[in-house]
Amino acid sequence: MKIILIVLDGLGDALILALRNKTPLEAAKTPNLDWLARKGVCGLVKPWQMGSSKPASDTCHLALFGYDPKIYYLGRGPYEASGIGMKLKKGDVALRTNFGTVDENLKIIDRRAGRIENTQSLVKAISKIRIKGVNILIKKSYGHRIVLVLRGKDISSAITDGDPHKAGEKVRKIFPICIFGKCGERERGKAEFTAQVLNEFLEKAHHILKNHPLNKKRKKQKLLPANYLLVRGAGEVREIPSFKEKHGLKAGCIAGGGLYKGIGKILGMDLIKVKGATGFADTNLKGKFLTAKKATRSHDFIFLHIKATDSLAEDGNYFGKKEFIERIDKDLKPLLKLKNTLIVVTGDHATCSELKRHCSEPFPILIYCDRIKADTVKAFSEKACKKGKLGRIKQLYLMPKILLYNK
Ligand code: ZN
Repeated sequence: MKIILIVLDGLGDALILALRNKTPLEAAKTPNLDWLARKGVCGLVKPWQMGSSKPASDTCHLALFGYDPKIYYLGRGPYEASGIGMKLKKGDVALRTNFGTVDENLKIIDRRAGRIENTQSLVKAISKIRIKGVNILIKKSYGHRIVLVLRGKDISSAITDGDPHKAGEKVRKIFPICIFGKCGERERGKAEFTAQVLNEFLEKAHHILKNHPLNKKRKKQKLLPANYLLVRGAGEVREIPSFKEKHGLKAGCIAGGGLYKGIGKILGMDLIKVKGATGFADTNLKGKFLTAKKATRSHDFIFLHIKATDSLAEDGNYFGKKEFIERIDKDLKPLLKLKNTLIVVTGDHATCSELKRHCSEPFPILIYCDRIKADTVKAFSEKACKKGKLGRIKQLYLMPKILLYNK
């Protein structure tokens, strides 16, 4: 049997008064998802969380694929780097980076430099910086974002963020985390060296950026100059067992957002391109579902990620989330008639629209195939799936459960 796992990012939500005390999923008209729920088995998923912190998309996806984030999480940088097509090597340290705007005292005016888009000439200029002992690779991501990769013998990801994550604050110097944590002598030396390299690089980059013709032009046009690199999420690339090695399934990944492509790629999934898959609400949903259907011919397991359910909720747009779920429902119709295919629909975590952030609420899952013995659930929603046969499942134990139905 083949498996299509559809992950609607931030699927779950809390009850919203303006939606007559329903969640966006409960309020949405979803005849096709309800059909799958009625003919399949359902339950609720408890997202993976580190202590009391809110669930995060990257660690939740790892848990969803059966990888314990405590062992296998690399940090955000490598997933982002991989997602934009950078070829990583074992030992590389990758960092997510924003072009930001600072004043003369290095206080942040805007963390996104007025959402600058055309950063190619800036990337080219800072790519010329050379620091002894490391190679620094830089690639443009979307909008104001780039990814930095440090490559060298004595580097470590045990370093702090330079980005204070807040406008109005001064940019931070990079420190080795080993000073505060417990590290061996060798790791401490590497972390100190990496912090020193990055601090030198960021200073040189600031000097180049503030004098760059594009930024001078932007200032004249009363646009914010992109004069500082805000780095965060350092992570070191190491080998982890591929999805195939772990589950014995040849996997393909269909996603618009870079992070999700990166996670898929690092787990050894084939990236399957879909024209118009953007990772935003305007994404080519129909194209993604049709491509997934086709990909079952060449792959055993298709991971199909849809992002905007989460982004709309993070913007507080619960009506938008409801309507987007309705569009997903309409466009996934071609999957309903698939034979010999397990269709799984779930989320990675809940995103509470009224709080505009990820939240710990459990969220639904359905597992369907044409010969499964259905439970009594009649609709796909938080409320209905609570009574499903799967019960409440911890996210890390989801893959073994799904594979039980893969006969
Ligand atoms: Zn997410």
